[in-house]
Amino acid sequence: MATTARSTLQLIERRWPWLAVSLALTLGLFVCTTLGWWWYADQRDAQARRLTLDLLWLEQTLQRTLETHQRMLVNWAEDLAAPGAGQATGAEFRERIAGLMKDHRALLAIDQVDAAGKRITGLPDYTERPSQLPPLTDPLIGAALVQARALRRPVYSQVIEQGAPLWVLVVPLLDEAGAQGAVLATYNLDRLLELEVPWWFVQRYDLSLVDRNHKRLFPTDVAAAEPAPEQHTLTFGPPDSGLALQAGLHEHAQPRGLLAGLAAAAALLAVTLVWLLQLLRRWLRERAAAARMAHERDELLQHTARLASLAELASGIAHELNQPLAAIANYSAVASACLAQDPPLKHKAEDAVARMGEEAQRAGKIIHSLRSFIQKREVEHRRHAVADLLTEPLALLEPLARRLQVGIKVDARDRSAQIDCDAVMIEQVVFNLLRNALEAVATQAATPPDDAVTVQVADDGEAVAICVADRGPGIAQPERLFQAFYTTKPEGMGLGLAICRTVVESHGGRLWAEANPGGGARVCVRLPRSTLALV
Ligand code: ADP
Repeated sequence: MATTARSTLQLIERRWPWLAVSLALTLGLFVCTTLGWWWYADQRDAQARRLTLDLLWLEQTLQRTLETHQRMLVNWAEDLAAPGAGQATGAEFRERIAGLMKDHRALLAIDQVDAAGKRITGLPDYTERPSQLPPLTDPLIGAALVQARALRRPVYSQVIEQGAPLWVLVVPLLDEAGAQGAVLATYNLDRLLELEVPWWFVQRYDLSLVDRNHKRLFPTDVAAAEPAPEQHTLTFGPPDSGLALQAGLHEHAQPRGLLAGLAAAAALLAVTLVWLLQLLRRWLRERAAAARMAHERDELLQHTARLASLAELASGIAHELNQPLAAIANYSAVASACLAQDPPLKHKAEDAVARMGEEAQRAGKIIHSLRSFIQKREVEHRRHAVADLLTEPLALLEPLARRLQVGIKVDARDRSAQIDCDAVMIEQVVFNLLRNALEAVATQAATPPDDAVTVQVADDGEAVAICVADRGPGIAQPERLFQAFYTTKPEGMGLGLAICRTVVESHGGRLWAEANPGGGARVCVRLPRSTLALV
């Protein structure tokens, strides 16, 4: 149990950035979806409320029109039924109904019928009743007549299907004796709606008129008007008419489309985000793995470099100590030989012993400088004049130069320039460059010229360059010179220049080889005047 909890905690600790992002994403999506849905529901409610109000308004408008007609017809019917009403009133009635029918084209016919239901007068004029009008003997008209007389008030017939849905308003002609006849107003319901429903209503809603059997009476072109999914229904006409007005929002006016679009966009966004997240995660993982591998390779390289440096150093020590030790051995042989003489050559022996001491000191210095080199922090950076840094190597190499019969010229106008450095180390560098130059010149068959080996010093204010130029064979591949163990000498170890470069670079300087104009090679050290920042 505890293990499971711990591993869950560990998992959370490891994955918390992803968990946080995923949580934020899920929350964001949830909020977006909820807001979207809330907005959609709000829109739908608002539209439903508006639809109800619009439909009520329409129903009232229609009702008002019908009531106005009804009131007029009732008035005219009263005039017709008044005692003493005669031909003049009939003519006046025709005139009145002509005006009404002209104003309202939904009125197909207005007839005055007698108690038996026979037409007395009316419009339109005809000899034979036109086919689009229901016969006066229609049972539905008959039923409405009976009802109107019984109730002594206007009554609408049931809808009569006569090519179009028709509606007959029966206004009874009443006198004190009772009903005499009636005025019948025949409406074409299609036309009534066409005339009364305003354009904006048609544009916004699907409107239909249905009878009690849910049969659609308007519009008759059913195919053109698919029933809207969310309908609002309102009874139309008198309570027993069975008619109802139905209205619903046009499909294109529904916010559903927009909602679907929003939902699709949200889903797409979610999928894209998840995908991007995965991509980012994979990329970061790859980066982390790559970083680990760079790091591992670095460690390996450093390890290899350390080993190489160690090997270089070991060989370097042997190389550098070889000469003073050989010299000590020589001088010791000389001293022994001098002392073996009879009488012993005391002075010469003393001289040889003194030289032995010098060489031993030099060996000690080398070991000291190598130790300093290993323990970087202990390197002694002091201000030294370049001239002083040249003295010791020149003196040390003087015997070799003499033996090889090669002169060394010092062309150092800037010899007073000063640099911060570890003197022993830089002296070792100069010593190596000078010895290489002498040995290079010695490989040439011709007599060495005056400028066989030249030391040049140049100070540019920022740094001081010490160049050792020679008239030796020159260098074919300057960069190979600095590779450890590269040598062309039978006795060489190929470590001198490699170590020199390390020393120079540790001083923040540069060591390079180039062709000496006029023949031979030139190896230069450039050291910054101040290396205090490096210490
Ligand atoms: P080593 O002197 O033991 O060979 P170095 O690192 O000092 O080691 O020199 C490496 C090689 O560079 C030499 O063997 C020689 O071939 C070449 N070299 C160095 N200095 C010169 C020079 N002044 N002229 C021509 N070749 C040089």
